[in-house]
Parts: sequence; C-alpha cells; structure tokens
Amino acid sequence: MKYILQIFAGSWQHKNYETEEIIKRLSEIIKILPVEKAIIGWVIDPFLYKEIGVFLHANGIEMLLWLPVFSETDLLLDVDASEDVWGKPVGAPEIEAGDGFTFCCPSSQKNRNNTKLIFDTHFVSCGFDGVFLDRIRTQAFVMDVRGPLSCGCASCRSFYESHGLSLSAVAERFDRLHERFFDISSYSPKDGYAFSDPVAASFFDIKADLIADAVNETTRYFHAKGLSVGLDLFAPLLGIFVGQDYKKITKEADFIKPMLYRRTEAPAGIGYDYGLLLDCLNGASGFQPVSTDDDLLRAQLLGLQDLPCAKYPGIEVNYEAGIVETDPAYIRDSLQIIRDCGADGAVLSWDVMMAPMEHILAARL
Ligand SMILES: [Zn+2]
Repeated sequence: MKYILQIFAGSWQHKNYETEEIIKRLSEIIKILPVEKAIIGWVIDPFLYKEIGVFLHANGIEMLLWLPVFSETDLLLDVDASEDVWGKPVGAPEIEAGDGFTFCCPSSQKNRNNTKLIFDTHFVSCGFDGVFLDRIRTQAFVMDVRGPLSCGCASCRSFYESHGLSLSAVAERFDRLHERFFDISSYSPKDGYAFSDPVAASFFDIKADLIADAVNETTRYFHAKGLSVGLDLFAPLLGIFVGQDYKKITKEADFIKPMLYRRTEAPAGIGYDYGLLLDCLNGASGFQPVSTDDDLLRAQLLGLQDLPCAKYPGIEVNYEAGIVETDPAYIRDSLQIIRDCGADGAVLSWDVMMAPMEHILAARL
C-alpha cells in the first residue's frame, strides 16, 4: 500500500501545531509506512510549509496544500453567497468554531477566482508540489433539502437555463411533490441514482455539470503552474446530491480521495450524511437504510472502477469521542479491503496528528 497523509494544520488564521511537532510526527510515521504524499493546510504560515517541505522533499515525499474551495473562503475574501432554488440563503449548521461549513456559489467567477487568489497570495512560494481541493460541492442534507436544492442564485439560474432547465420549475416541482421529488427507481454504486422525476433527474445532472465545470477550471489553473491536483469527494452514495458526479468531476484530476468514512459522525461521514438524507426524504421511495459494514465499503469501491485518475480512498485514522470513534481493527480491515479492490493507495485522513500511534501501526499491511 502507498499512503498519502493528511494533516489539518489549522484554519486560515489559527495554527494547530508548531512546525517541529508536525515534523516529529511525520518522522515517526515514515519510519513505519511507505508515504508518497502529504496533504497539509490551510493555516496561513509560509514558514511552516517551507520547513516541512524541506523535510518531506528530503525524504522523497510530495507536499500538497489542502485548500477549501467553496467554503471557508468567506473568512478571507468577499464571496457570492449561495441560495436555494427558492432564492433564500442556504445557511450552515453550527458544528465547530472555525469550521462553519457555509458554502458559497459554485458558478460565481468571483468565487472560483478566490481560490486561485488565495493560493497566489499566501501559498505560491511555499514549495508545494500540488493542491488538494476540498469543499468542491454545494451544501448537503445537513441544511435539509435546501442544501441539495442549491445553488439557485441568479448566476446559477443562467447556467441551468443555458442547459435547458428553469430553476423556477424545480422549485415548483418540489413544492408540488415534496419529498417525492427525490423518488428513485434504482441505485447502484457504479451507475448512481435513477431519479423517477424527469425534472429531478435533469436538475442533478446539470448540477453535476456545474460543479465539474468549476472543479475542472480550477484544476487546469493549477496544472498550468506545474502543480498536481487531488480532489476530496463525498462517497459515491452521497456525491450526486452535492453536485459530485465521479465521471464528470474526475476528468482532469490527478487523483481522487473518496471520503469512505464509516466511523465519522460529522459532515462527510457516510452514515451521518446518509442518515440525514433518510430523515429529510422520509416519504421518498427507493431509499433503503444502509449498514456501515465492510460490504458498504466494498460496494462504494466498485463505484470507482473505470475512472481516468488515480484512486486513493480516504479512511479516518484520527480519534475523537462522539465524533470519530475509530480503532486499529477498523483501520486495518478498511485498508485491506481498499488494497484488495485494486485502489492505487489510500489517504490516512483527516488528521494524522490526532491519530493514536496504534492506528498508524494498524496501517502497516
Ligand atoms: Zn449560485
């Protein structure tokens, strides 16, 4: 197994660790595991990255900047906010300070340029070999159906209209059908959801085009700078509701990290987000409860076959009571399944700084 390590060094203005602490942890891990890349971000501290970059490069490891795209940028720059298809602000849950999960509009050129501007202003000379794009989506069911039924701002309305769909028609349709707007006739990890309603099918198809358009444009920007690009994605089971269609979004990327988190009770956790989906869509037909067992992991991995980029599924290795209750057996089992399904490697997510050493040792397959 080849590994990519993920380190949450802190949000823009809040540093979680001193440089020496991170280098010490990295030294411990690379003695035990074969590591090819480290994803680190997004605190603004060029000196931290420069020093860590020297250490990683001396050990033949690439350094990628963890960069949120349609969330968190509002803490640094002016953004065009996101609206639902009824034209109301989508909002965000209060989960953790500094991690508000507010999403801005994905079609806005200003928002797309913010990502590039943030990189060029704060990170361009830090020695990064690539970027890892996170929050490349709309809001999810955490804000009820208004999350998946966004963004509906004027700019997005134009995008949908140019693709033959009126967002007023989407809003009217939901107002008439309620949860049954989301009815599906089938789901498979490989082919995704078959929405029964043609307006719903068209909406999610065009939404995926819009997000892919934004991501592919951003990817090309970083490729032109000679940087590699990885993508942080919701599990295939959940992606389409936030605008992530694996076939469309992976066209230009170098690698993807599907977040196959089965122990995370927070956004991007499969059980957490799918549970919210079931709560919100009570009354929609075709949705079955899922068990977050090994079979779910195997099924989700099937959805990654035939994609043009490298696949490095992400497994949580950090531990926090009530939020992410991982253990060595879970980590070992998950990584063995990922290896056996033919992935290129795995990302030890989402913060190796918060992982007990026995969790790192469990990754030694
Ligand atoms: Zn919009």
